[in-house]
Formats: sequence, structure tokens, C-alpha cells
Amino acid sequence: MGIQTVALFSEADRTSMHVRMADEGFSLTGNTPGESYLRQDLVVDAAKRSGEDAIHPGYGFLSENPAFAEKVEASGLKFIGPPASAIRALGDKTAARKIADELMIPTVPGTREAISEDDEAASIAAKIGYPILLKAAAGGGGKGMRVVKDREQLADALRTSKSETRNAFGDDRVYIEKYLQHPRHIEIQVLADGAGNTIFLGERECSIQRRHQKVMEETPSPIVDESLRTEMGRAAVRLVRSVGYRNAGTVEFLVDEHKKFYFLEVNTRLQVEHPVTELVTGIDLVRQQILISDGHDLSLTQDEVSRRGHAIECRICAEDPENNFFPSTGILKRYSPPHGPRVRVDSGFCEGDSVTIFYDPLMAKVITWGQNRYEAIDGMRRALEEFTIQGVESTIPFCLSVLSNERFRRGEFDTSFVDEEFNPAVFHATSERREIAASVAAVLIQAGARQQKAAITDHQDGEQSAWKKQRLESHH
Ligand code: ADP
Repeated sequence: MGIQTVALFSEADRTSMHVRMADEGFSLTGNTPGESYLRQDLVVDAAKRSGEDAIHPGYGFLSENPAFAEKVEASGLKFIGPPASAIRALGDKTAARKIADELMIPTVPGTREAISEDDEAASIAAKIGYPILLKAAAGGGGKGMRVVKDREQLADALRTSKSETRNAFGDDRVYIEKYLQHPRHIEIQVLADGAGNTIFLGERECSIQRRHQKVMEETPSPIVDESLRTEMGRAAVRLVRSVGYRNAGTVEFLVDEHKKFYFLEVNTRLQVEHPVTELVTGIDLVRQQILISDGHDLSLTQDEVSRRGHAIECRICAEDPENNFFPSTGILKRYSPPHGPRVRVDSGFCEGDSVTIFYDPLMAKVITWGQNRYEAIDGMRRALEEFTIQGVESTIPFCLSVLSNERFRRGEFDTSFVDEEFNPAVFHATSERREIAASVAAVLIQAGARQQKAAITDHQDGEQSAWKKQRLESHH
């Protein structure tokens, strides 16, 4: 779009790829998020000093913080995201559930208010039936979420959920939802402009999760047909419209085995998994975000949204799948992402960069496109087999094992898939077999190299003797 960019960076990120790619860099002191990227005053001040017009908050840190959006607008800059009032209205999960109720959009059974007393929680849980799920009203990232199987676990779970929530969000309000047993997580991407046009761009299936956090996403969902897509899309549009939403947003739902959907929450920002929607619709979501913030109306109507083929995303994290996904840090001695047709890699790292403990372990996202789901899956397998990372452990072997799983390939999965199919012991054994295979391969390669070397030496000797002979002959 020809827009000049300024990247902010913490001490640890001084030489990061986002800084190298920007036109200008602006230093925030310190390493931890609290000292750097979460400092609203410093961020706004840096933008003003470098003469910027707008701030794109990405999808972490301050991206869903209404006070920050307000501060940006008050300083005369544009916040590339929804109005602070819409972020505030939807950011609190209990408030968002009430809005859905008013619009007759089904929500997961549970409370609309935070609960604080054990007795109160026990009587509500008895009414809706165990298992229940304790969730943080201010929640995100699975923090404060606790499954409670029976009355006995309740008091302890409530206490730990509250303290985790307080530590993460400075707000310890917790509420109750019925814990659905085998739901699928399916979400709708929406776009809204300032002239009242709101459209949906289809769904994303995000049921491949670990600890309630997404690891692989795809679109279309194997279970969503055109009528369910339209029904969920219209519900999502009604919901965001009711709070005067503008810009890109995602309305998340759980869908049960009868294809009944229940509103979960709204993410008032760009999502990590947005590229799969971009690949099937051909719409650049970040470009749309910028245009909307700049006062442009949407250039397409709902009827003009078309979808082609299938796209899948794998999140490649610096974690060790063989060691319970323990974060892995170090220098990327080798880092060679895949290329080729129908492959997109959104990466934050280059060979030689360091992966530190300071931030989220996400290193790259690999997204593949195919005419249909099988093509996209096979393209992803090829791409991940090509992706070479040395220096840190990565989740590539885990993603490959999901891609070759028969249930996954048939599209028969829900949010329990990883827990049910991914047995760490079995995975470990498979990896050990792979390691043995790698050692055998290394021995064979070495043996091959020795033979080749011998052949080269013979050849060289031959050449040398011929040359020697010639020289001797000419000498004589
Ligand atoms: P967060 O914002 O903390 O990520 P969400 O409300 O988006 O939390 O839920 C994250 C995931 O947790 C869902 O995709 C789903 O797998 C699981 N989950 C949330 N609520 C329920 C529920 N009521 N029943 C079953 N699973 C749930």
C-alpha cells in the first residue's frame, strides 16, 4: 500500500525480523512485556514522535485493550481496530453473553454474572449438571479456565481459577459454563465499515487444540454446509452490528454433534489464523483493516464474497512435543522455511536469530491451499517435511503426526482430538524410531561418502599420474 512503517522493539527484539523489515525502528527499553510492549504511554509517545498517522496493534499485547484504543484516538492518531466502545462491550465474556441472549443467539448454558461463593457455585453447578467449566470474565488464552467434574473438586478449582485470573488480568471475576463434551470450535470472520456495512467471510474450523488453545486451523470446516454457514454468519453479523462494530473481528462458537451452535466469545482484533480466510476468499484482511480505519467503505457486498478451495494453517512453535511441549530456546543454527506453489509462510525469524523466553513461542505459521481438503493436507505434509529448523525443538513433528492421522484426514474430530489421539508415550516411541532411522541413514550416508571419496581419490590419482607423466615426458 506504499505505507511507511515504524516498528517498536524491546531490548530483546533489537535485531528482530520485524525491525529489520520496517522503514524505521523505535526502541522501548526493557525486555519483559510489562517494561516494553504493554507500556501504553511509551507506545503512543513513540508513534507521535516518529510522525505516524495510525497504530496497528497486531494480535497480542494491547490489541484488545479499550483504554489503549481510547488513548491512541485521544492523541490524534488512528487505532486500526474497532472503536473502544465495541471492544469494551464485547471484551467482557459475561457482558457479551448477555448481548447474545438479547439477540436470541444461543449461548452455552451457564451464568451471566460472575460468581464468588462456593455455595452459590455449587447450587448453579447442580442445576446445569457436571462437568462444568469455570471461566474468567476478562479471559483469554485459556487463563483461569478449569474443568470441574464433581462437587468435590469445586472449591479448590474456584480458588485456583480466581487466583490465576487475578494474576493474568488484574480482575478475578469467574463465571460458570456447562462443559460441552465433544464440541467443535468454529468461528466466523466479519468485516464492518463505518457506513453500516457488515459482512461475513465464512468460517474457520479450530478444533485441533492443546489445552484449549488452537494449534491447527482450516477453512472450510469439514462439517459446515452452506445453510449452517449462512445461519452462523448472520448471527455473527447481528451480534457485532448491535454494538456499533467497525473493522475486522471474529465471533467464536462451539458446535455440538447435532450441528447446534452456541456463542462463545468475540475476538475484537485480527486472529492468528486469519491467513486461511485470506487464501480462500482472496481478501487481504490487514489491507481491509487499514482501509476501514482510513474511512473507506467496504468495496464488496455479502453476495460478492466468493470462496475457492481449502486452506490449512499449522502453528510452528519453539516447543518440544516430546517433552510435554516445554518451551525451547536457543539460536536458530539452521532455519529454512518451505517454498513452492500454494504455500505461504508468515514467519518472525531468520537463520541466526535467537528464540528467547520473553515472548510467545510462535515462530512461524505455514499455510497451504488446495483445490480440496486432501490437496491442502498433502501440500502441508510436503511443506512441513521441507521446513528445516536446527537449534531449537519445534512442533513440526507433532503437526505431521496430526496430518497423517486417519481420523483427522476423514474430518472426524472435535476439541478432544489431541487428548484422545496424541499419546505422549506413543509419540515418544515413534520419535525414537525416527531417531534410529536417522542414525542408520547417517551411517549409510557416511559409508556412501567414504566409497565416493575413495573413487574421487582414485580418479585424482589417475589424473595426477597422467599430468605427472605428461610433465615428465615434456621435461624429457
Ligand atoms: P479463551 O478466550 O481463554 O481462549 P474461549 O472461550 O475462547 O477461551 O475457549 C477456548 C477453548 O476452550 C474452546 O475453543 C473450547 O475448546 C474450550 N471451551 C470453552 N468453553 C467451553 C465449554 N463451555 N465447553 C467445552 N469446551 C469449552
